[in-house]
Amino acid sequence: MAFASPISPSYSLHNLSSNPFSKHNKILTLNKIQSFSLSHRHPFFRVDCGSRWQGKDSLNYSLYSSVTSADILLDEAVEKTQFPKGDTWSIHKFGGTCVGTSERIQNVADIIVKDESERKLVVVSAMSKVTDMMYDLIDRAQSRDDSYVTALDAVLEKHKLTALDLLEGDDLANFLSWLHQDISNLKAMLRAIYIAGHATESFSDFVVGHGELWSAQLLSAVVRKNGLDCTCMDTREVLVVNPTSSNQVDPDYLESGRRLEKWYSHNPSNTIVATGFIASTPLNIPTTLKRDGSDFSAAIMGALFRARQVTIWTDVDGVYSADPRKVSEAVILKKLSYQEAWEMSYFGANVLHPRTIIPVMVYDIPIVIRNIFNLSECGTMICRPAGCENENGQRMESPVKGFATIDNLALVNVEGTGMAGVPGTASDIFGAVRDAGANVIMISQASSEHSVCFAVPEKEVNAVAAALESRFRQALDAGRLSQIAVIPNCSILAAVGQKMASTPGVSATLFNALAKANINVRAIAQGCSEYNITVVIKREDCIRALQAVHSRFYLSRTTIAMGIIGPGLIGGTLLDQLRDQAAVLKEKFNIDLRVLGITGSRTMFLSNTGIDLSIWRDLLREKGEKAEMQKFVQCVHGNHSIPNTVLVDCTADSYVASYYHDWLRQGLHVITPNKKANSGPLEQYLKLRALQRQSYTHYFYEATVGAGLPIVSTLQGLLETGDKILRIEGIFSGTLSYIFNNFVGTQAFSEAVKEAKEAGYTEPDPRDDLSGTDVARKVIILARESGLKLELSDIPVQSLVPEPLKASGSAEEFLLQLPQFDEDMAERRQEAEVAGEVLRYVGVVDVVNQKGTVELRRYKKEHPFAQLSGSDNIIAFTTQRYEKQPLIVRGPGAGAEVTAGGVFSDILRLASYLGAPS
Ligand code: ADP
Ligand code: ASP
Ligand code: MG
Repeated sequence: MAFASPISPSYSLHNLSSNPFSKHNKILTLNKIQSFSLSHRHPFFRVDCGSRWQGKDSLNYSLYSSVTSADILLDEAVEKTQFPKGDTWSIHKFGGTCVGTSERIQNVADIIVKDESERKLVVVSAMSKVTDMMYDLIDRAQSRDDSYVTALDAVLEKHKLTALDLLEGDDLANFLSWLHQDISNLKAMLRAIYIAGHATESFSDFVVGHGELWSAQLLSAVVRKNGLDCTCMDTREVLVVNPTSSNQVDPDYLESGRRLEKWYSHNPSNTIVATGFIASTPLNIPTTLKRDGSDFSAAIMGALFRARQVTIWTDVDGVYSADPRKVSEAVILKKLSYQEAWEMSYFGANVLHPRTIIPVMVYDIPIVIRNIFNLSECGTMICRPAGCENENGQRMESPVKGFATIDNLALVNVEGTGMAGVPGTASDIFGAVRDAGANVIMISQASSEHSVCFAVPEKEVNAVAAALESRFRQALDAGRLSQIAVIPNCSILAAVGQKMASTPGVSATLFNALAKANINVRAIAQGCSEYNITVVIKREDCIRALQAVHSRFYLSRTTIAMGIIGPGLIGGTLLDQLRDQAAVLKEKFNIDLRVLGITGSRTMFLSNTGIDLSIWRDLLREKGEKAEMQKFVQCVHGNHSIPNTVLVDCTADSYVASYYHDWLRQGLHVITPNKKANSGPLEQYLKLRALQRQSYTHYFYEATVGAGLPIVSTLQGLLETGDKILRIEGIFSGTLSYIFNNFVGTQAFSEAVKEAKEAGYTEPDPRDDLSGTDVARKVIILARESGLKLELSDIPVQSLVPEPLKASGSAEEFLLQLPQFDEDMAERRQEAEVAGEVLRYVGVVDVVNQKGTVELRRYKKEHPFAQLSGSDNIIAFTTQRYEKQPLIVRGPGAGAEVTAGGVFSDILRLASYLGAPS
């Protein structure tokens, strides 16, 4: 007789596969049971659940709550189909938010009906918040607060309204009658708790489990209403668990398996809705699997049913690399090994109850976590790593899969010279901790053995400290122990990943990220399985630490926070170029450029996560705040989750340039087309370059000379490879290039200037171009780059602005008066032409003679400088290697597009210095 086998109190998981019942196809079962029902043993256990919990086709007998084999008396045996254990079953678990409202319950019912599995078991949590409400009832009652009565009414109301929405006719009447009956029982029970001022654990467990009873009844009724035959299971009749000393429960799989077979024989159905969270003790006392235990229920059921898969439906797209509420950039992990999921859940990723893994792991049953509100996402698959790793692309992923944190911890540090080499110290310490009833979450001991430190929940630390002080009183008095210190307000941050075990450098990267975010690590632990590195940090640092380490492993290595100063012509063009190119850079090169701040001289716009560049102009105009450089820099650099920061100065301002030194010193990279810093006072320039060389921060200024043309980098390349620069000569001004390219005798000089202005090639006042100062700044930049120690004032500049017009009036007046001086220029041009030459306005760096000049020169018509068109720049480097034929760089050297392009290419150079792929 199948039921006659003795009950084993608790079986290990390994015994599950040898379940004796699985061999039989047909078994004998009961059609009438005289049960020693739970109702006889426990005054509050429901007595009428037989009829409530059966599907409409189930046998018509009266089954009391739970029946042990010893209680069974056979009256009559009928042949019934054996419980069809195996992979025809899929298990679904719906969390509280999935069944939080009547619409959501309806939605879950639809999913169940549409699921095409041959057989399905649906484990359901209480409607969201209900378990909290039930615990709250107990708290109120035992603290003799009679508001428990109104709080209970709220519970009644919530379920009543839901039922009214979902059910009708007999279904509704039945549910409401059960609900009222339960509520009146609960009222009586809470009254008893109120009078006693105390609730035992089994009283509490009985009360709080009602949330699942009601949600399961509601859901099964709706599934039936939708036309699918469905039975409801009160898992207290099936699941048997043994309480442990650590306020946990261990499932008794063998006994639960037996009860399941028996239950099924009375309720054969291909669709079962079962209560999560609740179970019975071997003595049939109602109990729970503890908070968030419905996941665990589903996993135990998965093992008992030997299901094909357990799907946990919740309100997020799967397991994220970190709690998405704390790290907005967390990503969904498509696959996790059982080990990884276990470690993640253990360390506080509450998407999965920590004990969910073990039952299913034994049978290799995959768990899939899916979002009920987003069915298009396929979720996270938790399975054996071999299966996971075969997937394409899996090997490329980060060795750290996820991060989790535990808050509200305290560290205890036991320290003293008398501890080293004394066997039994650790045992004494942890014996005392055990006596205090505390749970040790992490332990760390350095091999010098001078101290042992461990983390316990904050609320347990006083008891732990007291227990340790009493245990070690003598050692403290004798000075063998110097202190037992408590460090409150700590959190644990854990990095989890199975591949960490074989990847060097993971902890280096982790600690580097913490250091960059200025976070002090108080204790460290890594087990030799290397699946987990745990650090203890200050609680207030926890979220920042989580974001910092997450971004280091999960963001592109070259995620760069950017601040753009000066969103004018060049800055604005740069922002537009970034907007157009950002997606490609991210996708193809893994370069993630985030503009966190844009500031003009009056207004700035800041964002912690990244400005939407498609609307940056609107944001700046409509949502901008008063510009303030310190706040701007603080915001751009203050985002500790982004490892690199660059400030891009697109102004022409000396004031902004005066910040560079400070910024570089703080570790910010600087990129600029602004000539002011490099052509300003020599001493400041030298200081800046010296700092740049000492530090690991970068300062790029390619666009200061020749806009986007590779001039500075070409010069640096020549110098770095050991060439010797003899002379640099070039047409550095796009405006003056344009003017002289068009001043060919067909028009007067003043007309050429006017045309250049009209074509938009000149500054608003053309004198700024004609004065030659801008060219002089470029000459000084190249001279200094070549090693000459020159001031701007050392460069003689031939101004093309006639002396009398230098100070006179507006740009318009200047243009009006300029024709008076055309003759002089026409003569010079004529002379040149006669000699077969052209006029060109050039800058020269004479490295050999250590000087520079800016002047109007004549060049043979065959000379490369004479061949230009438009606003081209041309620069000739004469060097030891390029002595006979200079190295020439030529191309458009002015205009917002090419200048912004030059700045952009410096940004990409920075990204590649920081490790972006080429
Ligand atoms: P349910 O009621 O469905 O069991 P829970 O609230 O217990 O849902 O778990 C889901 C929640 O877990 C999510 O809403 C999310 O905020 C949180 N969570 C914490 N860490 C993670 C993580 N690493 N990945 C996904 N969710 C997480
Ligand atoms: N309802 C229970 C709780 O909130 C169990 C669960 O939902 O997992 O703790
Ligand atoms: Mg949960």
